[in-house]
Amino acid sequence: MSHEQPLKHQFVDFIPEELDERTVYVSTRFATVSHLCLCRCQSKVVTPLSPTDWQLTFDGKSISLYPSIGNWSFPCRSHYWIRNNKMSWAEDWSEERIEAGRARDLLAKNRYYGSVIQDEEPAVPHEADTKPDSEPKKPWWKKWLLPWC
Ligand SMILES: [Zn+2]
Repeated sequence: MSHEQPLKHQFVDFIPEELDERTVYVSTRFATVSHLCLCRCQSKVVTPLSPTDWQLTFDGKSISLYPSIGNWSFPCRSHYWIRNNKMSWAEDWSEERIEAGRARDLLAKNRYYGSVIQDEEPAVPHEADTKPDSEPKKPWWKKWLLPWC
């Protein structure tokens, strides 16, 4: 199972309903890549592109996806790489390793989106805007002419 299998890629606006086997559909518009599971089980695999999901590389001729694609939620549980329009099988993962991977993904997402939220936080409001003056100042004439006020 170590031999590589050739793939095609297709840049599309929308991922079509019907996918061809061994074709990787890339929608940069929706930052989504989709293909039929390469074990031929016909499951539709959707790999969203984002800094914490998959990253797509297009070298002008072929595409690569990083990281590998683990179809743990499908019965086939296939796991493979798509690199330079070639699919190569990756090793089968144990249940523990899948769980650890999921936890790591979640952590990365939290970190990433956490930092984005922090970056977008507005500047600290000025205190003067939020606190009423505790001691309103007396006008000068009151101080001088009416000191008992
Ligand atoms: Zn499959």
